[in-house]
Amino acid sequence: MKFGGTSVGDASCITRAAKIIVNAAKEFRCVAVVSAMSGVTNRLIEAADHARAGNAGEAAAILESLRKQHETALSSLVRQEEERQPIRQRLQEVLSEGRRLCEGTALLRELTPRTLDAVSSLGERLSAPLVAAAVKDTGAASEAIEASGLIVTDAFHGGAEPQMEATREKSQKRLGPLLENGIVPVVTGFIGATTHGQLTTLGRGGSDFSATILGAALDADEVIIWTDVDGVLTADPRLVQAARTIPEVSYREAAELAYFGAKVLHPKTLNPVVQAAIPVWIRNSFAPERRGTKITPEGRSIGGGVKALTAIRDVTLISVGGPGIVGLPDVVGRTFSTTADVRANVLLISQSSSQNDICFIVAAADAQRTVEALRKEFAQDLAHHNVEHITVDPNIAIVAVVGENMRGIPGIAGKTFSALGREGVNLIAIAQGSSESNISFVIEEQDVKTALTTTHREFGLDSPQS
Ligand code: ADP
Ligand code: ASP
Ligand code: MG
Repeated sequence: MKFGGTSVGDASCITRAAKIIVNAAKEFRCVAVVSAMSGVTNRLIEAADHARAGNAGEAAAILESLRKQHETALSSLVRQEEERQPIRQRLQEVLSEGRRLCEGTALLRELTPRTLDAVSSLGERLSAPLVAAAVKDTGAASEAIEASGLIVTDAFHGGAEPQMEATREKSQKRLGPLLENGIVPVVTGFIGATTHGQLTTLGRGGSDFSATILGAALDADEVIIWTDVDGVLTADPRLVQAARTIPEVSYREAAELAYFGAKVLHPKTLNPVVQAAIPVWIRNSFAPERRGTKITPEGRSIGGGVKALTAIRDVTLISVGGPGIVGLPDVVGRTFSTTADVRANVLLISQSSSQNDICFIVAAADAQRTVEALRKEFAQDLAHHNVEHITVDPNIAIVAVVGENMRGIPGIAGKTFSALGREGVNLIAIAQGSSESNISFVIEEQDVKTALTTTHREFGLDSPQS
Protein backbone atom coordinates (compact mmCIF):
# COMPACT_ATOMS: atom_id res chain seq x y z
CA MET A 1 0.00 0.00 0.00
CA LYS A 2 1.31 3.39 -0.93
CA PHE A 3 0.20 6.61 0.72
CA GLY A 4 0.78 9.86 -1.17
CA GLY A 5 1.71 13.25 0.25
CA THR A 6 -1.81 14.44 1.06
CA SER A 7 -2.63 11.05 2.59
CA VAL A 8 0.14 11.67 5.15
CA GLY A 9 -0.24 15.47 5.06
CA ASP A 10 -0.72 16.01 8.81
CA ALA A 11 -1.30 14.06 12.02
CA SER A 12 -4.97 13.39 11.33
CA CYS A 13 -4.21 12.13 7.81
CA ILE A 14 -1.44 9.92 9.17
CA THR A 15 -3.86 8.49 11.73
CA ARG A 16 -6.33 7.71 8.95
CA ALA A 17 -3.55 6.04 6.92
CA ALA A 18 -2.43 4.06 9.98
CA LYS A 19 -5.96 2.72 10.46
CA ILE A 20 -6.09 1.57 6.84
CA ILE A 21 -2.71 -0.14 7.26
CA VAL A 22 -3.61 -1.82 10.56
CA ASN A 23 -6.93 -3.09 9.18
CA ALA A 24 -5.20 -4.57 6.15
CA ALA A 25 -2.44 -6.08 8.29
CA LYS A 26 -5.05 -8.06 10.24
CA GLU A 27 -5.87 -9.99 7.08
CA PHE A 28 -2.81 -9.83 4.87
CA ARG A 29 0.91 -9.41 4.96
CA CYS A 30 1.22 -5.77 4.13
CA VAL A 31 4.04 -3.37 3.28
CA ALA A 32 3.40 0.38 3.44
CA VAL A 33 5.25 2.82 1.19
CA VAL A 34 5.00 6.48 2.10
CA SER A 35 5.60 9.83 0.44
CA ALA A 36 6.88 12.91 2.19
CA MET A 37 4.19 14.99 3.91
CA SER A 38 2.46 17.12 1.31
CA GLY A 39 4.59 20.06 0.13
CA VAL A 40 7.74 18.93 1.94
CA THR A 41 9.69 17.80 -1.14
CA ASN A 42 9.07 21.18 -2.78
CA ARG A 43 10.33 22.95 0.36
CA LEU A 44 13.46 20.80 0.43
CA ILE A 45 14.21 21.60 -3.19
CA GLU A 46 13.71 25.27 -2.34
CA ALA A 47 16.21 24.89 0.51
CA ALA A 48 18.71 23.28 -1.86
CA ASP A 49 18.23 26.16 -4.32
CA HIS A 50 18.87 28.72 -1.59
CA ALA A 51 22.01 26.82 -0.63
CA ARG A 52 23.18 26.81 -4.23
CA ALA A 53 22.81 30.58 -4.27
CA GLY A 54 24.95 30.80 -1.13
CA ASN A 55 22.03 31.49 1.24
CA ALA A 56 22.81 28.98 3.96
CA GLY A 57 20.58 30.93 6.37
CA GLU A 58 17.46 30.64 4.22
CA ALA A 59 18.08 26.94 3.73
CA ALA A 60 18.48 26.41 7.47
CA ALA A 61 15.25 28.32 8.12
CA ILE A 62 13.35 25.96 5.84
CA LEU A 63 14.81 22.92 7.58
CA GLU A 64 13.86 24.43 10.93
CA SER A 65 10.26 24.92 9.82
CA LEU A 66 10.18 21.31 8.62
CA ARG A 67 11.50 20.19 12.02
CA LYS A 68 8.63 22.01 13.72
CA GLN A 69 6.07 20.57 11.32
CA HIS A 70 7.21 16.98 11.91
CA GLU A 71 7.53 17.44 15.67
CA THR A 72 4.01 18.82 15.87
CA ALA A 73 2.73 15.78 14.01
CA LEU A 74 4.78 13.50 16.26
CA SER A 75 3.33 15.07 19.41
CA SER A 76 -0.23 14.37 18.37
CA LEU A 77 0.51 10.91 16.95
CA VAL A 78 2.39 9.37 19.86
CA ARG A 79 0.94 9.77 23.32
CA GLN A 80 3.83 8.54 25.47
CA GLU A 81 6.81 10.89 25.82
CA GLU A 82 9.27 7.99 26.22
CA GLU A 83 8.08 6.55 22.91
CA ARG A 84 8.34 9.93 21.23
CA GLN A 85 11.97 10.42 22.26
CA PRO A 86 13.68 7.91 19.90
CA ILE A 87 11.58 9.10 16.97
CA ARG A 88 12.37 12.73 17.71
CA GLN A 89 16.02 11.81 17.75
CA ARG A 90 15.70 10.06 14.40
CA LEU A 91 14.05 13.16 12.91
CA GLN A 92 16.90 15.29 14.29
CA GLU A 93 19.52 13.03 12.70
CA VAL A 94 17.85 13.21 9.30
CA LEU A 95 17.49 16.99 9.54
CA SER A 96 21.07 17.56 10.61
CA GLU A 97 22.17 15.54 7.61
CA GLY A 98 20.09 18.00 5.57
CA ARG A 99 21.72 20.96 7.29
CA ARG A 100 25.20 19.65 6.56
CA LEU A 101 24.32 19.05 2.91
CA CYS A 102 22.97 22.59 2.57
CA GLU A 103 25.99 24.11 4.34
CA GLY A 104 28.36 22.28 2.00
CA THR A 105 26.33 23.35 -1.01
CA ALA A 106 26.28 26.98 0.14
CA LEU A 107 30.02 26.94 0.65
CA LEU A 108 30.73 25.60 -2.83
CA ARG A 109 27.75 27.32 -4.45
CA GLU A 110 27.32 24.18 -6.41
CA LEU A 111 24.41 21.77 -6.29
CA THR A 112 25.20 18.45 -7.92
CA PRO A 113 22.36 16.11 -8.97
CA ARG A 114 23.64 13.72 -6.34
CA THR A 115 23.36 16.29 -3.56
CA LEU A 116 19.95 17.42 -4.78
CA ASP A 117 18.78 13.81 -4.50
CA ALA A 118 20.18 13.57 -0.98
CA VAL A 119 18.32 16.75 0.06
CA SER A 120 15.04 16.08 -1.73
CA SER A 121 14.82 12.57 -0.28
CA LEU A 122 14.78 13.84 3.32
CA GLY A 123 10.98 14.24 3.31
CA GLU A 124 10.31 10.52 2.98
CA ARG A 125 12.99 9.79 5.57
CA LEU A 126 11.09 12.07 7.95
CA SER A 127 7.58 10.82 7.21
CA ALA A 128 8.29 7.06 7.39
CA PRO A 129 9.21 7.08 11.13
CA LEU A 130 6.05 9.09 11.87
CA VAL A 131 3.80 6.69 9.98
CA ALA A 132 5.49 3.65 11.58
CA ALA A 133 4.92 5.23 14.99
CA ALA A 134 1.26 5.85 14.18
CA VAL A 135 0.83 2.24 13.01
CA LYS A 136 2.30 1.04 16.30
CA ASP A 137 0.04 3.38 18.23
CA THR A 138 -2.96 2.04 16.31
CA GLY A 139 -2.10 -1.52 17.25
CA ALA A 140 0.25 -3.29 14.83
CA ALA A 141 3.98 -3.90 15.12
CA SER A 142 5.81 -1.71 12.63
CA GLU A 143 9.26 -0.58 11.56
CA ALA A 144 10.37 2.35 9.39
CA ILE A 145 12.70 1.23 6.60
CA GLU A 146 14.77 3.34 4.22
CA ALA A 147 14.37 2.16 0.64
CA SER A 148 18.04 2.87 -0.10
CA GLY A 149 18.58 -0.58 1.44
CA LEU A 150 15.94 -2.20 -0.77
CA ILE A 151 15.64 -0.60 -4.20
CA VAL A 152 18.80 -0.88 -6.30
CA THR A 153 18.99 1.59 -9.18
CA ASP A 154 21.33 2.92 -11.82
CA ALA A 155 23.15 6.18 -11.08
CA PHE A 156 20.84 8.52 -13.03
CA HIS A 157 20.13 11.02 -10.27
CA GLY A 158 16.70 12.61 -10.31
CA GLY A 159 15.14 9.80 -12.35
CA ALA A 160 16.90 6.55 -11.56
CA GLU A 161 15.87 3.21 -13.07
CA PRO A 162 15.49 0.20 -10.81
CA GLN A 163 17.51 -2.96 -11.30
CA MET A 164 14.88 -5.52 -10.55
CA GLU A 165 16.96 -8.64 -9.86
CA ALA A 166 19.12 -6.96 -7.23
CA THR A 167 16.07 -5.18 -5.80
CA ARG A 168 14.21 -8.44 -5.50
CA GLU A 169 17.02 -10.06 -3.61
CA LYS A 170 17.53 -7.18 -1.19
CA SER A 171 13.84 -6.55 -0.56
CA GLN A 172 13.01 -10.16 0.12
CA LYS A 173 15.97 -10.55 2.42
CA ARG A 174 15.23 -7.41 4.40
CA LEU A 175 11.41 -7.38 4.42
CA GLY A 176 10.68 -11.11 4.38
CA PRO A 177 11.58 -11.73 8.05
CA LEU A 178 9.59 -8.67 9.18
CA LEU A 179 6.50 -9.88 7.31
CA GLU A 180 6.94 -13.40 8.72
CA ASN A 181 6.89 -11.93 12.20
CA GLY A 182 3.81 -9.80 11.66
CA ILE A 183 5.74 -6.54 11.56
CA VAL A 184 4.51 -3.96 9.03
CA PRO A 185 7.44 -2.34 7.22
CA VAL A 186 6.85 1.36 6.47
CA VAL A 187 9.18 2.08 3.57
CA THR A 188 10.26 5.47 2.25
CA GLY A 189 8.90 6.04 -1.26
CA PHE A 190 10.80 7.95 -3.96
CA ILE A 191 14.25 6.67 -2.93
CA GLY A 192 16.70 4.04 -4.09
CA ALA A 193 20.46 3.59 -4.09
CA THR A 194 23.08 2.44 -6.57
CA THR A 195 24.98 -0.82 -6.08
CA HIS A 196 27.63 1.33 -4.39
CA GLY A 197 25.10 2.60 -1.89
CA GLN A 198 24.80 6.10 -3.39
CA LEU A 199 21.30 7.46 -2.73
CA THR A 200 19.15 8.16 -5.81
CA THR A 201 15.58 9.31 -6.40
CA LEU A 202 13.13 7.90 -8.91
CA GLY A 203 11.82 11.27 -10.15
CA ARG A 204 9.09 13.60 -8.86
CA GLY A 205 5.97 11.73 -7.87
CA GLY A 206 8.09 8.57 -7.82
CA SER A 207 6.59 6.97 -4.71
CA ASP A 208 3.94 5.33 -6.91
CA PHE A 209 6.80 3.70 -8.77
CA SER A 210 8.44 2.64 -5.48
CA ALA A 211 5.22 0.85 -4.55
CA THR A 212 5.00 -1.19 -7.74
CA ILE A 213 8.75 -1.92 -7.70
CA LEU A 214 8.37 -3.40 -4.22
CA GLY A 215 5.09 -5.09 -5.14
CA ALA A 216 6.82 -6.88 -8.01
CA ALA A 217 9.95 -7.62 -5.96
CA LEU A 218 7.84 -9.25 -3.24
CA ASP A 219 5.42 -11.05 -5.59
CA ALA A 220 2.52 -9.12 -4.10
CA ASP A 221 -1.09 -10.11 -4.80
CA GLU A 222 -1.97 -6.50 -5.36
CA VAL A 223 -0.72 -2.94 -4.99
CA ILE A 224 -3.01 -0.26 -3.61
CA ILE A 225 -2.17 3.38 -4.22
CA TRP A 226 -4.02 5.52 -1.67
CA THR A 227 -4.42 9.10 -2.75
CA ASP A 228 -6.78 12.07 -2.41
CA VAL A 229 -9.25 11.27 -5.22
CA ASP A 230 -11.62 8.32 -5.79
CA GLY A 231 -9.47 6.65 -8.43
CA VAL A 232 -8.45 7.26 -12.01
CA LEU A 233 -10.92 9.84 -13.32
CA THR A 234 -12.06 10.51 -16.87
CA ALA A 235 -10.05 13.76 -16.76
CA ASP A 236 -8.08 15.89 -14.34
CA PRO A 237 -10.75 16.99 -11.84
CA ARG A 238 -8.99 20.31 -11.36
CA LEU A 239 -9.67 21.14 -15.01
CA VAL A 240 -12.87 19.26 -15.82
CA GLN A 241 -15.58 19.55 -13.20
CA ALA A 242 -17.66 16.74 -14.65
CA ALA A 243 -14.83 14.19 -14.43
CA ARG A 244 -15.91 10.88 -12.90
CA THR A 245 -14.23 7.76 -11.56
CA ILE A 246 -13.49 4.91 -13.98
CA PRO A 247 -14.12 1.52 -12.30
CA GLU A 248 -11.55 -0.42 -14.29
CA VAL A 249 -8.84 0.42 -16.79
CA SER A 250 -6.19 -1.62 -18.52
CA TYR A 251 -2.48 -1.30 -17.85
CA ARG A 252 -2.13 0.21 -21.25
CA GLU A 253 -4.81 2.84 -20.79
CA ALA A 254 -3.49 3.76 -17.36
CA ALA A 255 0.05 3.93 -18.70
CA GLU A 256 -1.03 6.25 -21.54
CA LEU A 257 -2.82 8.51 -19.07
CA ALA A 258 0.17 8.59 -16.75
CA TYR A 259 2.57 9.16 -19.60
CA PHE A 260 0.52 12.09 -20.88
CA GLY A 261 0.35 13.85 -17.56
CA ALA A 262 -2.42 12.37 -15.40
CA LYS A 263 -0.71 13.20 -12.14
CA VAL A 264 -2.52 10.48 -10.23
CA LEU A 265 0.11 7.97 -11.46
CA HIS A 266 3.83 8.39 -11.99
CA PRO A 267 4.50 7.53 -15.67
CA LYS A 268 6.57 4.46 -14.83
CA THR A 269 4.18 3.07 -12.21
CA LEU A 270 2.92 0.14 -14.24
CA ASN A 271 6.24 -1.04 -15.71
CA PRO A 272 7.24 -3.30 -12.81
CA VAL A 273 3.89 -5.10 -12.51
CA VAL A 274 3.14 -5.85 -16.16
CA GLN A 275 5.07 -9.09 -16.32
CA ALA A 276 3.55 -10.63 -13.21
CA ALA A 277 0.11 -9.12 -14.01
CA ILE A 278 -0.29 -7.76 -10.49
CA PRO A 279 -3.45 -5.61 -10.24
CA VAL A 280 -3.01 -2.04 -9.05
CA TRP A 281 -5.77 -0.15 -7.28
CA ILE A 282 -6.15 3.60 -6.97
CA ARG A 283 -8.22 4.46 -3.91
CA ASN A 284 -9.13 7.45 -1.79
CA SER A 285 -7.53 7.43 1.67
CA PHE A 286 -10.08 10.06 2.74
CA ALA A 287 -12.98 7.78 1.73
CA PRO A 288 -11.68 4.21 2.10
CA GLU A 289 -15.20 2.78 1.83
CA ARG A 290 -15.25 3.66 -1.88
CA ARG A 291 -14.08 1.02 -4.29
CA GLY A 292 -11.66 3.06 -6.39
CA THR A 293 -10.21 2.11 -9.77
CA LYS A 294 -8.76 -1.28 -10.55
CA ILE A 295 -5.97 -1.40 -13.10
CA THR A 296 -5.68 -4.85 -14.69
CA PRO A 297 -3.95 -6.36 -17.72
CA GLU A 298 -7.08 -6.16 -19.89
CA GLY A 299 -9.21 -3.58 -18.14
CA ARG A 300 -12.95 -3.73 -18.59
CA SER A 301 -13.82 -3.28 -22.21
CA ILE A 302 -16.43 -0.72 -23.05
CA GLY A 303 -16.35 -2.07 -26.59
CA GLY A 304 -13.56 0.28 -27.57
CA GLY A 305 -13.72 4.01 -27.64
CA VAL A 306 -12.69 6.93 -25.52
CA LYS A 307 -12.28 6.28 -21.81
CA ALA A 308 -10.41 9.29 -20.55
CA LEU A 309 -8.56 12.46 -21.46
CA THR A 310 -5.41 13.95 -20.20
CA ALA A 311 -3.21 16.94 -20.84
CA ILE A 312 0.42 17.63 -20.34
CA ARG A 313 1.42 21.23 -20.03
CA ASP A 314 5.04 21.45 -18.97
CA VAL A 315 6.27 20.61 -22.43
CA THR A 316 8.15 22.32 -25.23
CA LEU A 317 7.84 21.93 -28.98
CA ILE A 318 11.18 21.80 -30.77
CA SER A 319 11.47 21.88 -34.52
CA VAL A 320 14.45 21.20 -36.72
CA GLY A 321 14.07 22.12 -40.33
CA GLY A 322 14.15 24.31 -43.36
CA PRO A 323 14.02 23.53 -47.09
CA GLY A 324 17.67 22.46 -46.96
CA ILE A 325 16.93 19.31 -45.01
CA VAL A 326 15.09 17.71 -47.89
CA GLY A 327 17.26 14.85 -49.02
CA LEU A 328 19.53 14.90 -45.98
CA PRO A 329 18.81 11.33 -44.96
CA ASP A 330 20.41 11.39 -41.57
CA VAL A 331 18.65 14.40 -40.04
CA VAL A 332 16.02 12.30 -38.32
CA GLY A 333 18.58 9.83 -37.04
CA ARG A 334 20.91 12.53 -35.78
CA THR A 335 18.07 14.45 -34.15
CA PHE A 336 16.88 11.52 -32.12
CA SER A 337 20.27 10.13 -31.27
CA THR A 338 20.96 13.58 -29.85
CA THR A 339 17.80 13.52 -27.73
CA ALA A 340 18.78 10.05 -26.54
CA ASP A 341 22.28 11.22 -25.63
CA VAL A 342 20.91 13.91 -23.33
CA ARG A 343 18.25 11.50 -22.02
CA ALA A 344 15.42 13.76 -23.07
CA ASN A 345 12.10 12.01 -23.05
CA VAL A 346 10.46 12.55 -26.44
CA LEU A 347 6.69 12.60 -25.94
CA LEU A 348 5.47 13.09 -29.47
CA ILE A 349 6.96 13.30 -32.94
CA SER A 350 5.51 14.72 -36.12
CA GLN A 351 7.12 15.17 -39.50
CA SER A 352 5.57 16.81 -42.50
CA SER A 353 5.62 14.77 -45.69
CA SER A 354 7.71 17.31 -47.55
CA GLN A 355 10.33 16.72 -44.85
CA ASN A 356 10.80 20.43 -44.37
CA ASP A 357 10.36 20.13 -40.68
CA ILE A 358 10.70 17.58 -37.94
CA CYS A 359 8.94 18.65 -34.81
CA PHE A 360 8.85 16.85 -31.52
CA ILE A 361 7.93 17.51 -27.94
CA VAL A 362 9.99 17.06 -24.82
CA ALA A 363 9.37 17.83 -21.15
CA ALA A 364 10.05 21.52 -20.45
CA ALA A 365 12.79 20.51 -18.02
CA ASP A 366 14.63 18.70 -20.83
CA ALA A 367 14.19 21.46 -23.44
CA GLN A 368 17.23 23.61 -22.86
CA ARG A 369 19.78 20.83 -22.83
CA THR A 370 18.12 19.22 -25.83
CA VAL A 371 18.29 22.40 -27.90
CA GLU A 372 21.87 23.07 -26.88
CA ALA A 373 22.86 19.56 -27.89
CA LEU A 374 21.02 19.88 -31.22
CA ARG A 375 22.68 23.20 -32.03
CA LYS A 376 26.01 21.55 -31.39
CA GLU A 377 25.18 18.47 -33.44
CA PHE A 378 23.92 20.56 -36.37
CA ALA A 379 26.43 23.43 -36.07
CA GLN A 380 27.98 22.71 -39.45
CA ASP A 381 24.63 22.24 -41.15
CA LEU A 382 23.26 25.45 -39.68
CA ALA A 383 26.31 27.31 -40.92
CA HIS A 384 25.88 25.87 -44.40
CA HIS A 385 22.09 26.34 -44.35
CA ASN A 386 21.38 22.65 -44.83
CA VAL A 387 19.40 23.05 -41.66
CA GLU A 388 17.81 26.47 -41.48
CA HIS A 389 16.46 26.55 -38.00
CA ILE A 390 16.13 24.90 -34.66
CA THR A 391 13.20 26.58 -32.93
CA VAL A 392 11.50 26.25 -29.59
CA ASP A 393 7.90 26.88 -28.53
CA PRO A 394 7.23 26.51 -24.81
CA ASN A 395 3.62 27.77 -24.87
CA ILE A 396 2.03 24.54 -25.99
CA ALA A 397 0.35 21.53 -24.46
CA ILE A 398 -0.48 17.98 -25.50
CA VAL A 399 -4.00 16.67 -25.03
CA ALA A 400 -4.35 12.91 -25.26
CA VAL A 401 -7.56 10.98 -25.87
CA VAL A 402 -7.15 7.52 -24.36
CA GLY A 403 -9.03 4.23 -24.71
CA GLU A 404 -8.35 0.66 -25.88
CA ASN A 405 -8.76 -0.20 -29.56
CA MET A 406 -9.53 3.32 -30.67
CA ARG A 407 -7.87 2.79 -33.99
CA GLY A 408 -10.60 0.36 -34.95
CA ILE A 409 -13.27 2.94 -34.36
CA PRO A 410 -13.76 5.40 -37.17
CA GLY A 411 -14.39 9.02 -36.55
CA ILE A 412 -12.75 9.58 -33.18
CA ALA A 413 -10.18 11.96 -34.60
CA GLY A 414 -12.83 13.68 -36.73
CA LYS A 415 -15.19 14.07 -33.81
CA THR A 416 -12.44 15.52 -31.65
CA PHE A 417 -11.31 17.95 -34.27
CA SER A 418 -14.72 19.23 -35.25
CA ALA A 419 -15.58 19.77 -31.57
CA LEU A 420 -12.36 21.69 -31.10
CA GLY A 421 -12.90 23.61 -34.30
CA ARG A 422 -16.31 24.73 -33.05
CA GLU A 423 -14.68 26.11 -29.93
CA GLY A 424 -11.97 27.86 -31.91
CA VAL A 425 -9.13 25.73 -30.56
CA ASN A 426 -6.24 25.74 -32.99
CA LEU A 427 -4.48 22.41 -33.64
CA ILE A 428 -0.74 22.65 -34.06
CA ALA A 429 0.06 18.97 -34.61
CA ILE A 430 -1.60 15.59 -34.36
CA ALA A 431 -0.21 12.15 -33.62
CA GLN A 432 -2.00 8.87 -33.89
CA GLY A 433 -0.77 5.47 -34.79
CA SER A 434 2.11 4.57 -32.57
CA SER A 435 -0.42 3.13 -30.19
CA GLU A 436 -3.97 1.96 -30.71
CA SER A 437 -5.01 3.42 -27.44
CA ASN A 438 -4.11 7.05 -27.83
CA ILE A 439 -4.70 9.97 -30.15
CA SER A 440 -2.81 13.04 -29.11
CA PHE A 441 -2.85 16.56 -30.37
CA VAL A 442 -0.83 19.65 -29.72
CA ILE A 443 -2.57 22.91 -28.93
CA GLU A 444 -1.72 26.25 -27.43
CA GLU A 445 -1.37 26.06 -23.68
CA GLN A 446 -4.08 28.63 -23.04
CA ASP A 447 -6.63 26.36 -24.75
CA VAL A 448 -6.15 23.31 -22.53
CA LYS A 449 -9.18 23.76 -20.32
CA THR A 450 -11.54 24.47 -23.22
CA ALA A 451 -10.13 21.53 -25.18
CA LEU A 452 -10.59 19.14 -22.27
CA THR A 453 -14.12 20.21 -21.30
CA THR A 454 -15.28 20.19 -24.90
CA THR A 455 -13.85 16.77 -25.72
CA HIS A 456 -15.06 15.36 -22.41
CA ARG A 457 -18.61 16.36 -23.28
CA GLU A 458 -18.30 15.30 -26.91
CA PHE A 459 -17.42 11.71 -25.96
CA GLY A 460 -20.12 11.44 -23.33
CA LEU A 461 -17.67 11.23 -20.46
CA ASP A 462 -19.59 13.77 -18.34
CA SER A 463 -21.57 12.11 -15.60
CA PRO A 464 -25.22 11.68 -16.62
CA GLN A 465 -26.48 14.02 -13.87
CA SER A 466 -24.27 16.96 -14.69
P1 ADP B 1 -0.36 11.71 -4.22
O1 ADP B 1 0.21 12.77 -3.35
O2 ADP B 1 -1.32 10.82 -3.51
O3 ADP B 1 0.67 10.97 -5.00
P2 ADP B 1 -0.92 13.36 -6.52
O4 ADP B 1 -1.24 14.77 -6.20
O5 ADP B 1 0.43 13.02 -7.02
O6 ADP B 1 -1.30 12.46 -5.25
O7 ADP B 1 -2.00 12.79 -7.57
C1 ADP B 1 -3.38 12.88 -7.30
C2 ADP B 1 -3.96 14.07 -8.03
O8 ADP B 1 -3.87 13.85 -9.44
C3 ADP B 1 -5.43 14.28 -7.80
O9 ADP B 1 -5.66 15.07 -6.65
C4 ADP B 1 -5.89 14.99 -9.08
O10 ADP B 1 -6.00 16.36 -8.88
C5 ADP B 1 -4.76 14.74 -10.07
N1 ADP B 1 -5.21 14.13 -11.33
C6 ADP B 1 -4.88 14.56 -12.57
N2 ADP B 1 -5.45 13.80 -13.51
C7 ADP B 1 -6.18 12.85 -12.88
C8 ADP B 1 -7.00 11.77 -13.32
N3 ADP B 1 -7.20 11.49 -14.61
N4 ADP B 1 -7.59 11.00 -12.38
C9 ADP B 1 -7.40 11.25 -11.08
N5 ADP B 1 -6.65 12.27 -10.60
C10 ADP B 1 -6.03 13.06 -11.48
N1 ASP C 1 7.77 13.22 -2.37
C1 ASP C 1 8.12 12.99 -3.75
C2 ASP C 1 7.62 14.15 -4.61
O1 ASP C 1 6.98 15.06 -4.11
C3 ASP C 1 7.66 11.68 -4.26
C4 ASP C 1 6.17 11.44 -4.22
O2 ASP C 1 5.44 12.12 -3.50
O3 ASP C 1 5.69 10.51 -4.91
O4 ASP C 1 7.90 14.18 -5.77
MG1 MG D 1 1.79 11.47 -6.72
